[in-house]
Amino acid sequence: MKQFQYMRPTKQKAATDAVAKDPTALFIAGGTNLIDLMKREVMQPEKLVDINMLPLKKIEQRNGSVRIGALVSNSAVAEDRLIVEKFPLLSQALVSGASAQLRNMATVGGNMMQRTRCYYFYDTALPCNKREPGSGCGAIEGINDQHAIFGFSENCIAVNPSDMSVALAALDATVLLSGPKGERRIPFIDFHRLPGDQPEVDTNLMRGELIVAVDVPESPYAQNAHYLKVRERASFAFALVSVAAALDIQNNTIQSARLAMGGVAHKPWRLFDAEKALAGKPVSEESFWQAAEVAMRGAKAFEHNAFKLKLAPNSIVQALKTAAGIA
Ligand SMILES: Cc1cc2nc3c(=O)[nH]c(=O)nc-3n(C[C@H](O)[C@H](O)[C@H](O)COP(=O)(O)OP(=O)(O)OC[C@H]3O[C@@H](n4cnc5c(N)ncnc54)[C@H](O)[C@@H]3O)c2cc1C
Repeated sequence: MKQFQYMRPTKQKAATDAVAKDPTALFIAGGTNLIDLMKREVMQPEKLVDINMLPLKKIEQRNGSVRIGALVSNSAVAEDRLIVEKFPLLSQALVSGASAQLRNMATVGGNMMQRTRCYYFYDTALPCNKREPGSGCGAIEGINDQHAIFGFSENCIAVNPSDMSVALAALDATVLLSGPKGERRIPFIDFHRLPGDQPEVDTNLMRGELIVAVDVPESPYAQNAHYLKVRERASFAFALVSVAAALDIQNNTIQSARLAMGGVAHKPWRLFDAEKALAGKPVSEESFWQAAEVAMRGAKAFEHNAFKLKLAPNSIVQALKTAAGIA
């Protein structure tokens, strides 16, 4: 690991100024992703700005939403009474990730910012446009079983590994950011980017901007929600495909739906057209298969991940059935 400077500010402005002024500086929260990447020399910040002294560790009920501070640990969010009651989808997604020890350290902001698990990104001997722009994408012609089937580019076919982000994308969350130019809010679904010709940029966060909190609006989806994660091992593994499914059901009719997938794209993949296809339909396996067919339009596989073209629609139907209570 390369040497680095370390600071631990107690004021938010000092933290954001430090990162804004120094292009080699990065925030550090739980450290469970960044330290790994530094040890492997995939990321080499020269300064770490530890944000753990900042007062961003609260979960608060607000008017019509719940605000989750960026430094709340993944386990604290998953176990919180308000979250379990109002957003079981988020709690399930968090519990499906990593291990208990990691969830105790990992934070909301760090989870949103975690980097891809693409083998080529992690191995500094191999080409990767995300790690080293212009070096090429090793995965396109290489081992691509874990990779994207939606939204990829000729420069990058990596996927976003976060489970929490799939649930937050489905739940219409908003991200609260604070930086040198003040505060701003962006919809969660606009926080992460598709790779395009700049795969090294994962998100729309600007230099020096800090994730302060995530607001999750109250919704009618708590009763019928399910996060399904399909992976190679029963625990401690990233999603091959995951589905966040939430339904508002009245008299056996779907009033509205929220659906997003993980493990299939460079960002949490919200399925707006499939949601529209579900609205007004009866709760039935047939309705769910129709939505899955709509969701899969435009999907394209590479040499080793064609199984996702079948796994993804099967997972959508299974997640919807479980959410609806007809599994
Ligand atoms: C073995 C293993 C298994 C895992 N399995 C899963 C899994 O199945 N599912 C899953 O979703 N995740 C999984 N993870 C990833 C884990 O969830 C992340 O490592 C964790 O959420 C990162 O949070 P952190 O606070 O430790 O981030 P850090 O490592 O501290 O930071 C990560 C990045 O976020 C930035 N950052 C942190 N906080 C902020 C902020 N407030 N504002 C702006 N930038 C910020 C940092 O600069 C850094 O670039 C796994 C990790 C490991 C090591």
